[in-house]
Amino acid sequence: MTLKLYNTLSRSLEPFEPLSPPHVRVYGCGPTVYDFPHIGNYRTFLVYDLLHRYLEWSGYQVKFVVNLTDVDDRTIEAAGKRGVPLREHTKPYADAFLADGRTLGILPADVHPLATEYVERMVTFVGKLVEKGLAYRAEDGSVYFSIAAFPTYGKLSRVDPEALRAGVRVAVDDYGKDDVRDFALWKAAKPADETAGAAWDSPWGRGRPGWHLECSVMSIAELGETLDIHVGGEDLIFPHHEDEIAQSEGVTGKPFVRYWMHAKHLLVDGRKMSKSLGNFIVVRELLEAGHEPAAIRHQLLSAQYRSELNFTMEGLEASGRAVQRLLDFEARIEEGATAATAAPAGLPEIAAPAVAAFRAALDEDLNTSDALAALFVLVGQGNAALDRAGAVLPAERDALRDALASIDRVLGLIEVARTSRALDAGTIAWVDGMIGQRRTARGARDFARADAIRKELAERGIVLEDSAQGTRWKVVRKVE
Ligand code: AMP
Ligand code: ZN
Repeated sequence: MTLKLYNTLSRSLEPFEPLSPPHVRVYGCGPTVYDFPHIGNYRTFLVYDLLHRYLEWSGYQVKFVVNLTDVDDRTIEAAGKRGVPLREHTKPYADAFLADGRTLGILPADVHPLATEYVERMVTFVGKLVEKGLAYRAEDGSVYFSIAAFPTYGKLSRVDPEALRAGVRVAVDDYGKDDVRDFALWKAAKPADETAGAAWDSPWGRGRPGWHLECSVMSIAELGETLDIHVGGEDLIFPHHEDEIAQSEGVTGKPFVRYWMHAKHLLVDGRKMSKSLGNFIVVRELLEAGHEPAAIRHQLLSAQYRSELNFTMEGLEASGRAVQRLLDFEARIEEGATAATAAPAGLPEIAAPAVAAFRAALDEDLNTSDALAALFVLVGQGNAALDRAGAVLPAERDALRDALASIDRVLGLIEVARTSRALDAGTIAWVDGMIGQRRTARGARDFARADAIRKELAERGIVLEDSAQGTRWKVVRKVE
């Protein structure tokens, strides 16, 4: 069985074969750090994480690079509005992107290049395109890529370069371009760029890099001239990735990317997420409203990355319940009775096919919806077998535990829930003390007091379960 990925370049599912196995080099277009990323962005970033984890789980040695766009039109405009230098504006959002990613269990990339730290290399890169006759300086000091000089332009997005011209109505002279289709590699500095500290010297005068150029230069600098996989949201196919190909292949003469992957945009309540519609949701808001990170992660991974996913609060709540089921199952495996003399309960016969089904689902273009189904078959069948068995053989218990742990190395749901629910020693002592007081209150038939204690704990995200053996507690949600 091999991993198959849908390659936007060929518009078909292809067996994945890296250029030099077991190494895999992947580049994902990261956030533009002018504002907090929204949960749509995080759908895409979770696809990166899934790909990262699954490639490693499958035995590849992965170098994963996700850039941060910290200089472009949007960052400069946002810094300008506040009257602060570019870096002062972008730094908190860059930090927030990484912090929210950690909260959601997104593995850090091996490198998170900042565009502003690669400007010198970008200037060199543009110089090479000019030398090769693929780019030219316009009168104002901007440098444009010449689409007419690059015959394969359009191969990723399948736009017809001729038709492009007809679609653009502005007069060529307005931009100082030779051809309306040409895109900027280097933008001559405007006063606002200088004010924000977003202008650098170049052979063509003061200016700043174009966004498309940034990704070509950072990816080649970190991963070499041919990448195995380049991933991004579907909106980036044209013009961003088309332009990356033109620039990169223009300079190197080699294929830039072997597999292009694109994640479908997230909908919110059935509509495209946008600030103007007021359905623009950021991770922090959801956490503040009491949703746990593992539930957000589950919800955003619940559909295969190329299929439609509609984010709703009901869906998020259902995800919270799914996560709880996983944790309950895990606790049951850990805490259930084992006995060296127990009769076989058939647990390995449940575990092995579940992991195989999980792998088969992800091998099929990262089908997370089928992979989650395989996981919950494991939970359902495992619970039923444990109900029947009572005590189980230690080796059988281990088979179930290992299958669950192996699956979670990719999905990261138990991992994220455990991290976000972990309490410090002081809080644990406080909870234990409260449970002791509740026991005393119940012993004295002071049920009002006992209920008040239960309620207070619930408000802190802690749920009590009374049984013949005493009171157990679990954290369903961490409250600061
Ligand atoms: P940006 O910060 O706008 O450069 O976007 C960062 C990444 O998020 C890109 O790969 C975008 O394609 C992706 N993205 C933007 N909006 C959405 C959305 N609604 N759903 C999924 N991905 C998105
Ligand atoms: Zn990019």
